[in-house]
Amino acid sequence: MQPVILWLRRDLRLRDNTALQAALDSGTPIMPLFIFDPMLLQGERFSAARLKFMLAGLEALAADLRAMGRNLLVRHGDPLTVLVDLVSTTNAAALYFNRDYSPYAIKRDSGLAATLGIPVYAYDDALLHPPDAVLKADGDPYVVYTPFKRAWLALPKPDVLHYDLTAEHFHDLRDLDQPPIPSLRDLGVNDTIDVPPAGASSAQDRLDAFMSAGVYTYVDQRNQLTINPFTDANAGTSALSPYFRFGMISPRQAYAAAMSAKSRADNAAHAQSVDVWISEIAWREFYMHILNHFPHVLKRSFRPEYDQVEWHKDADDLAAWQAGQTGYPVVDAAMRQLLTIGWMHNRARMIVASFLTKDLLIYWRAGDLHFMRHLIDGDPAANNGGWQWSAGTGTDAQPYFRIFNPVSQSEQFDPTGAYIRHFVPELRDVPDEYIHAPWTMPTPPPDYPAPIIDHKFARARALAAFKAAKG
Ligand code: FAD
Repeated sequence: MQPVILWLRRDLRLRDNTALQAALDSGTPIMPLFIFDPMLLQGERFSAARLKFMLAGLEALAADLRAMGRNLLVRHGDPLTVLVDLVSTTNAAALYFNRDYSPYAIKRDSGLAATLGIPVYAYDDALLHPPDAVLKADGDPYVVYTPFKRAWLALPKPDVLHYDLTAEHFHDLRDLDQPPIPSLRDLGVNDTIDVPPAGASSAQDRLDAFMSAGVYTYVDQRNQLTINPFTDANAGTSALSPYFRFGMISPRQAYAAAMSAKSRADNAAHAQSVDVWISEIAWREFYMHILNHFPHVLKRSFRPEYDQVEWHKDADDLAAWQAGQTGYPVVDAAMRQLLTIGWMHNRARMIVASFLTKDLLIYWRAGDLHFMRHLIDGDPAANNGGWQWSAGTGTDAQPYFRIFNPVSQSEQFDPTGAYIRHFVPELRDVPDEYIHAPWTMPTPPPDYPAPIIDHKFARARALAAFKAAKG
């Protein structure tokens, strides 16, 4: 029987996968395929840490297939060329995949049907509600989160898909060239930081652990910088972002688990905490919709007037921020956390993004780029949305005149200074009263920089620059 191709991209899982279910329904043996696209392995936004996490996820996926006696087909090259070749060598009858809503993917996928000459079936899977399903009454997309969330919550949510998988569902790849999943070194990339265990089972374990405890304290703990949710599964936030990034877990699985946790909640506060977590899933979808409807945001501010701000191009300030050497302990701790574990709390992301765009008055795209180079969850939509929100240039942005004070943020969200001391060892012995502003010590630590900018001055400068651009 002619096989069908299941092209896996940002959906590295066999469970609850819409395109996989459709391919199963066709009753035809499936060839699961992953293509290493050189476009995604090169370029300035490439991250070795994110690639390492993805490779581990692919290994886990291949292991799930091997457990059934089947394999993942791996190919390298331009996707269209690879697919044309595969269709001709295997006589494949159709191509199945889940949609990716980013501009590069849309462009890449749009010409497939015409070029391949076989039926091409694309599915909505990465979101609970695809971009065109949440629109205002006049048919325009929402550009403000709260009404978007209201409309998003009101829609009936899709169920988790259930199906059985056996070897018979998959094509026997014996006659095909089967290169192994490459290592970082095979791809010419040096080893990098340690990454968390990847793959669908690890994602499910993390989801289960979070929904059994952490979700109930989420509302109180999500801003606590000291908690590392990757090492403490029962506290803080879910640490699911890298798994969502590569589709190792689906939003349907996450939503169903959250609703089940809500039904088990002991009290109203716990149930409300689950709702707050679900609203973060809505943020994820909001920013994917924004990128889909307004692809220009990747290159420019959503609000064009803010591209007129007299942004500074100070390479030394940017380098100090990137290295965690600004002299502001909480900013430096967060920036070093990013370099150490490839992840940062949402609160920390907001603090460092405000510092870069308001205190240093550096254009948000420099921060967006640095994050993409280091985040294991680096996602074009969420990262762009987060940066433009923080810079005050985006759709549903905080107003430009709201500028985070790095000292009071630090006092509020790292009250004991434990987060700072963990990531900035030069400050380990600084007494509590000075930990948020060590330059006020009679004798500041000699190996830690003085602040690269005075916050009060920077605040006034940013307000004036934004006001001028707006005017
Ligand atoms: P939880 O608090 O447990 O939230 C659950 C899930 O909801 C997350 O895994 C994520 O998928 C989603 N989510 C939560 N908050 C947001 C948000 N504000 N916007 C969009 N989705 C959200 N998130 C990314 O996944 N990739 C990025 O590249 C990214 N860059 C960011 C850049 C900046 C400047 C800012 C302010 C935020 C950014 N975020 C990004 C959003 C957020 O910081 C992370 O999703 C969150 O910290 C991930 O941790 P978690 O999985 O424990 O989140």
